[in-house]
Amino acid sequence: MPDLEIPTTRSPINLMVDGAANLGIIVTEYQVRQFERYLAELVKWNSKINLSGITDKRQIVIKHFLDSLLYLKGLELQGDEQLVDIGSGAGFPGLPLKLVKPKLQVTLLDARLKKIAFLKQLCQRLKLEGVNCIQGRAEGLAGQPQHYQKYNVAVARALTQLDRLIGLAFPYMVPGGRLVVSYGAQVNRQLRLAGEMLDKQAGSLEKVCRVSLPHSNELRNIVVIRKCFT
Ligand code: SAH
Repeated sequence: MPDLEIPTTRSPINLMVDGAANLGIIVTEYQVRQFERYLAELVKWNSKINLSGITDKRQIVIKHFLDSLLYLKGLELQGDEQLVDIGSGAGFPGLPLKLVKPKLQVTLLDARLKKIAFLKQLCQRLKLEGVNCIQGRAEGLAGQPQHYQKYNVAVARALTQLDRLIGLAFPYMVPGGRLVVSYGAQVNRQLRLAGEMLDKQAGSLEKVCRVSLPHSNELRNIVVIRKCFT
């Protein structure tokens, strides 16, 4: 389906506030300024290093910021959880989640140094506390004492198929912790692929929330998997 036509008279930030409200998220003025800054930094860095294939500001708001906030639809948060974003890239979904839930303690992991350099500078500019940006491969970092079974919530977007993701994310999660990931139309195939891995790793499918991405025709399936107490 082609993208809905987005009225060009509406500023990207206006689309952001409106889209978030549509998801039941009220964004404060301070947070709006943080998203504006995030947008400006992403566009600036993207002209030098390839962070994202999406370059139009309105599309960044929809396909990155709002798409990240959709994770909250599957994930009731107290607010002060330890969250790890595996393969975070330019910060998605972990950083938009941090901006609207400032008490979250967030670790953003990525294998690529340039992405981590961007994230570190961005977090400084946004004066964020409680965000760690770490370069390395998820497989290698998981065994380290500061990461092993330290997170209540693991998230990932556009990283890998679900069976492999379970293998990557479970070592980071406390028993009883949740893995949250978004898939499009191929969600059923992903769930089928993951069945065996869930048995092996003592995980269970908690729910799948079907949600629509504001200002678009697109649907997402937010998959929530629980790591069982063994
Ligand atoms: N989550 C972001 C980026 C997706 S692209 C988004 O949705 O926009 C996948 C990212 O994962 C890339 O930045 C890549 O460098 C990183 N990555 C791939 N394999 C990885 C691994 N094994 N460990 C850590 N990061 C990885």
